[in-house]
Amino acid sequence: MGMLRYFTLAAASFASIAISPRILFRLQNPGTIPYINRTRFIDPTKASTERISGQREFEEWKQQFQGMTLPSTHSHSVRVTRIAKNIVGSMHSEINKLRSISEDISQYGFLHRVWLRMTRKLPPSLSHLDGLNWEVLIVTGVPVRYFPALVCPGGKIIASTAFIELHPSDVELATMLAHEIAHIMARHGCERRTKVELISMIHRVLNRFVTIDFYQTVRNWIDHRFEFEADYIGLLLMAAVGYDPRQAPKYYEKMAMFDVPVKYPVLARFLVSHPSGRERAKAVARPEIMKEALLLYNDYRGRRGVE
Ligand SMILES: [Zn+2]
Repeated sequence: MGMLRYFTLAAASFASIAISPRILFRLQNPGTIPYINRTRFIDPTKASTERISGQREFEEWKQQFQGMTLPSTHSHSVRVTRIAKNIVGSMHSEINKLRSISEDISQYGFLHRVWLRMTRKLPPSLSHLDGLNWEVLIVTGVPVRYFPALVCPGGKIIASTAFIELHPSDVELATMLAHEIAHIMARHGCERRTKVELISMIHRVLNRFVTIDFYQTVRNWIDHRFEFEADYIGLLLMAAVGYDPRQAPKYYEKMAMFDVPVKYPVLARFLVSHPSGRERAKAVARPEIMKEALLLYNDYRGRRGVE
């Protein structure tokens, strides 16, 4: 088979795998991320099993950390749970505000829906956040570099004692927790699962023609986007419950000490899964974003009568 045919085959496979399900899912299931208003692309079967797979993932982590977890009465567990509760509370009151716009888009005609999507005006998807069973698990004996904190779909938060001890102020922990809770709000876990499946299909085709690790490169690019989105949503969630958003850039600057060094910083987006601490600090400190967060923060303080 000539090279031209190979490329035609590769291009056709790429187009059919990448484009058709994308259009199909987007039109059928146009879930929209709150605040960002990006229409995401989620496989409906993955959406329906999201909580079960999140629970399974959480159980696997528990197994892995067997004998290394703190009791719920330990001061670290109490502190993280208290701050997480505040942020989850913030998320729910934000949901109530956002729900004033109807989530049911079936009332609009097809073209109207396409127009709303193009102009990023589709109502946010929130029903996946109803009745979540939030849990917090603190693990000991793992260095921050390898395990700071993570969240499993369904609302399971795991943080390491090393990470907690590195952040003595509540606002620092609130920045981290708000970021993790924002991943749940944006439903990134589910979207990642959908995309990873597609990427591996494309990877299998492209693998015959190119030597780059297509799979990891695209995954890093997607993860970068998710991280920035969670930083932004997290900033709003923490601010809405009285944690000073102006402290968030300092937190990300501090976390820069764990950045993975990359040889070509300009390609970092494709080489590592997380943006650098400095980039993240800069992104949340952008005036238009900080202004939005400060509005929520001042509103909270006004309602509480804090000067
Ligand atoms: Zn994250």
